[in-house]
Amino acid sequence: MDRISHWIGGKLVPGESGITGPVFNPATGEQTHVVDFATVEEFDRAVEIANEAFPEWRGMSLSKRAALFFRMREVLDSRKTEVAKAVTQQHGKCLFDALAEVERGVELLEFAAGLPHLLKGSYSEQITTGFDLFSVRQPLGVVAGITPFNFPAMVPMWMCAAAMAAGNCFILKPSERDSGASLLLAEAFRDAGLPDGVFQVVQGDKVAVDRTLEHPDIKALSFVGSTPIAKYVYATAAANGKRVQALAGAKNHMIVLPDADVGMAADAAVSSINGSAGERCMAIATVVPVGDIADPLIEAILERTAKLKVGDGMDPENEMGPLVTLEHRDRVVSYIDSAREQGATVLVDGREHPLWGTGFFVGPSVIDHVTEDMKCYQDEIFGPVGTIVRVETYEDAIALTRRNRWGNGAAIFTRDGGAARQFVYDIEAGMVGINVPIPVPLAFYSFGGWKESLFGDSKMYGPEGIHFWTREKAVTVRWPDPSTSKVDLGFPGAR
Ligand code: NAD
Repeated sequence: MDRISHWIGGKLVPGESGITGPVFNPATGEQTHVVDFATVEEFDRAVEIANEAFPEWRGMSLSKRAALFFRMREVLDSRKTEVAKAVTQQHGKCLFDALAEVERGVELLEFAAGLPHLLKGSYSEQITTGFDLFSVRQPLGVVAGITPFNFPAMVPMWMCAAAMAAGNCFILKPSERDSGASLLLAEAFRDAGLPDGVFQVVQGDKVAVDRTLEHPDIKALSFVGSTPIAKYVYATAAANGKRVQALAGAKNHMIVLPDADVGMAADAAVSSINGSAGERCMAIATVVPVGDIADPLIEAILERTAKLKVGDGMDPENEMGPLVTLEHRDRVVSYIDSAREQGATVLVDGREHPLWGTGFFVGPSVIDHVTEDMKCYQDEIFGPVGTIVRVETYEDAIALTRRNRWGNGAAIFTRDGGAARQFVYDIEAGMVGINVPIPVPLAFYSFGGWKESLFGDSKMYGPEGIHFWTREKAVTVRWPDPSTSKVDLGFPGAR
């Protein structure tokens, strides 16, 4: 059985705890790896090494650091298929999708390579007579990231690219369900010349997470995962005086106005609901047809759903792979049962798919006549299950989204520019699509939701990412003629 170990001090370090977790190939259901779970001492060792590496890393000139980021970008880009294969074989998503995930990671390195510009401070001359003021953005020191299973290559890059570009040393605690990609990232960075200790990986479970939350030398912490754990991480890290951002769950609505193009809206809904088997925090979970577009739209969704090719993600013929674990698959299908029990109409039940029973596969499901009180609407399902909540008016649709506790992404489908503009004004979500079902901002913007989709006040990567991983220092300067100096007990003012 292959072993997934830690990456500490620039090399693979086998775990000492003897405690491990299983990693499966979800397409076959077979266990392929064990992943080491770190002890507190192992985590502390990584922090010690990061502390030692920090002064030199912070001191590296911006131009040298930028050149290194260009090399990291090149090396990762040249290995993207290898990384994507590891993602497909441990997560289950199709290879083309895994490749797109790694490419998004490469873009984050590309953005971070602009660090000499991104880290610029500001300068004001003559703020008061003879005084100037400038600001610099400085790194925090040793920082950490805790990531979920659904983007094992991209989400770590959301965090580490900006954090390291800003001059911090970064420790990653990946999801224990598909941790293999984290080591390929570490190897790519080392081969590009990143100094040892600047990027480290500590594999593990709650023990490693809890140590991250309490270790006094971890200055900032970025988390992505489910809402209950995000709340816990946010509250605990903040109580321990750390800077923290915790991105959480989602229930993204796609509102389809009566004037929308039915075929285009159905294409978008089916793609977004079932892409990566619904294991995306930006997936459309709820389709909200307004008025009498509902019936034709649902018919078009069913037509397209029936044609989806489900199977092993390594086969380029397939469009949708399995779910990540058996446990997750069973949780996902429990929502089909609860929907039926609560009076919804199950139009397609993924358990009727021929691959049900093989690996962790479930086919796509479609549930109509879902109402707000139902569990399948209230909870995040995180699987290929499209729920449809029919409403009469645009106002009903907006009111529905506002009552929902999450606000990650939202989309509107319409041909009416005025209606779309009003939607941007009205909707309470951090990322909005107009005729775009998965509106994930590119690397030069920032990613994050509103309401219970993000705890903290900074989004991930882009300008807000750089802001999160640095702190500003404001410096007031004067070079006076000593002959004019005198004792002055007044509060410095604008004189
Ligand atoms: P998860 O919350 O189970 O795990 C996330 C991380 O927390 C993992 O590293 C895991 O080891 C750790 N963890 C799990 N249980 C813990 C506990 N009790 N104490 C301390 N640490 C614990 O999430 P997941 O199932 O891996 O990922 C799916 C979730 O992530 C979904 O809810 C999805 O919406 C969310 N997600 C959100 C975004 C976003 O940007 N908002 C992006 C991707 C995924």
